[in-house]
Amino acid sequence: MDCPYCGDEMQAGFVRCRDGVRWSPKKPPVAALAALVPDSVVLGGHGSYAPESTAVAYNCSSCKMVVIPYEG
Ligand SMILES: [Zn+2]
Repeated sequence: MDCPYCGDEMQAGFVRCRDGVRWSPKKPPVAALAALVPDSVVLGGHGSYAPESTAVAYNCSSCKMVVIPYEG
């Protein structure tokens, strides 16, 4: 994947979280309850009952930016 900012090739790696990796528009009251925030998005293990605790992510060391694609 190329960096959307500088165009350089990004390095593939992983982001881990103990209770599933999610993006949410609001900060959950407790980190483990991110799934209860409306409109939250599963970033790892999409479609499974128990989301995986790892999501594929791409790093651009020049821009200090990480991009996490997800299924939708
Ligand atoms: Zn970049």
